[in-house]
Formats: sequence, structure tokens, C-alpha cells
Amino acid sequence: MTTITDRLAIAQHRIAQAAQNSSRRAEDIQLLAVSKTKPNSQIIEAYHAGQRRFGENYVQEGESKVNALSQEFPDIEWHFIGPLQSNKSKVVATLFDWMHTVEREKIAQRLNEQRPESMPALNVCIQVNISQEQSKSGVPACEVLALADKIALLPKLTLRGLMAIPSADVDELTAIQELAALQSLYNELAQRFDSVDTLSVGMSNDLELAVAHGSTMVRIGSAIFGERDYSKL
Ligand SMILES: *Cc1c(COP(=O)(O)O)cnc(C)c1O
Repeated sequence: MTTITDRLAIAQHRIAQAAQNSSRRAEDIQLLAVSKTKPNSQIIEAYHAGQRRFGENYVQEGESKVNALSQEFPDIEWHFIGPLQSNKSKVVATLFDWMHTVEREKIAQRLNEQRPESMPALNVCIQVNISQEQSKSGVPACEVLALADKIALLPKLTLRGLMAIPSADVDELTAIQELAALQSLYNELAQRFDSVDTLSVGMSNDLELAVAHGSTMVRIGSAIFGERDYSKL
């Protein structure tokens, strides 16, 4: 049986290989371990294997995990990567280090107001809708720069970059077109804002393609922790 420690090493190896194939440095691509639906014991196991960045999708689950673990493991970096309703923004503003899914000015303003003075600025990414699907969340590409200008004015937020979830079940050419469009938008943003250094894209099944298109942070869940069982949530 492979352990979480083994699977983390395999994920790191995949990142290193993908970086090498694109003539990039492996250390320029960070691994975010997506621990949604998984128990604290598995986060701790990954922590002892050296993992420090963890991503959570659900407000309530994330809140209970951060509260349970942050005292004993103060160097864990907590990333919120799920959809966020504005009435839940305070949980993210007070407990998390990163927020990947900003898609409205109103959410950004609330996070800025609710971020405690005692904490460093919240690192944020704008979630971009790079897929053609109507229902997908995220800001249309043409609105990203305007939202970025607004976020850059908020003192308790630091604009770090873009996040995207490419369409599932599309052919490889479509996937490549989406990622290439994302990468060029990211480059434009990085030219405009010194604080921008993060392109959050790539999951268990597409990390190689994402690294080939400039990803600096891959969000890996099932390849580390195994398949998820949502019935227990
Ligand atoms: C669940 C999730 C992931 C991880 O997906 P895997 O396919 O398990 O690697 C990454 N990003 C987001 C936004 C997710 O919701």
C-alpha cells in the first residue's frame, strides 16, 4: 500500500519532471495539498512528510481544521480554494493565509474590512473563467484587469495572481487553448503588478499540462490523499 508520504514524493517527482520538460525550475512550482473531505490525521501525516501548504474548499470544514491544527502546527499555510458566499467571508479573512477564488469586488472589500489588523495581508488570487461552459465560476478574462485594479487598492489584501479550473472532459487541444489564454492573461497581470507571482492551476490529472503553461502552484488532492468520499461531509 502506498502511503501519503509516498504519494507526496510521487507528486513532487511529477512536478520536477514537468518542470524539466519545460526548462523551468522545480522550485518555482509549489505544491498545494488539497485536503478537503480528508481527516486531520491525514493532514498531520502530510505535515510530517514535509508538506506545509494545504487547500480547503468548504468554509465550515476549513474553519474546524484550522482551529484544530493551527496552534500545534503554526507554520501550516492555509489556502481557501472553494466558492465563498459573502456572508461567510469572515472565516476566510480571520483564519486563512490565502484566498484563491476572489471573483467579485464586493467579496474583496469584505475580506479587506474583516482581515484583522494583527494579521499580515491576505494573499488573494482572482479566479478566472477560462472555460466556455456557462455555469463555471470565475471572472471572464476581459474583466480581470479591472477587478485587479480594485483589489490593488485594498491595504489588507495582496494581489498574488490568478487561479483557474480548466474544463473537465475536453479534448487536449481545447485544454491547451484554455491554458495558453490563461498564461498570457497572467503575464499581462504580472507586468502590471509587482506583487503578482502566482498562477494557481493544475490538479491531479493535469498538472503536467499546467506546468507546461506557466503554473506556479498546482493544487493536488486525490493523487496525495486518495479518492474523496463526499458522503461523510
Ligand atoms: C478538489 C480540488 C482540487 C484537487 O483536485 P484533485 O483532482 O483531487 O487533485 C484542486 N482545486 C480545486 C479548486 C478543487 O476543488
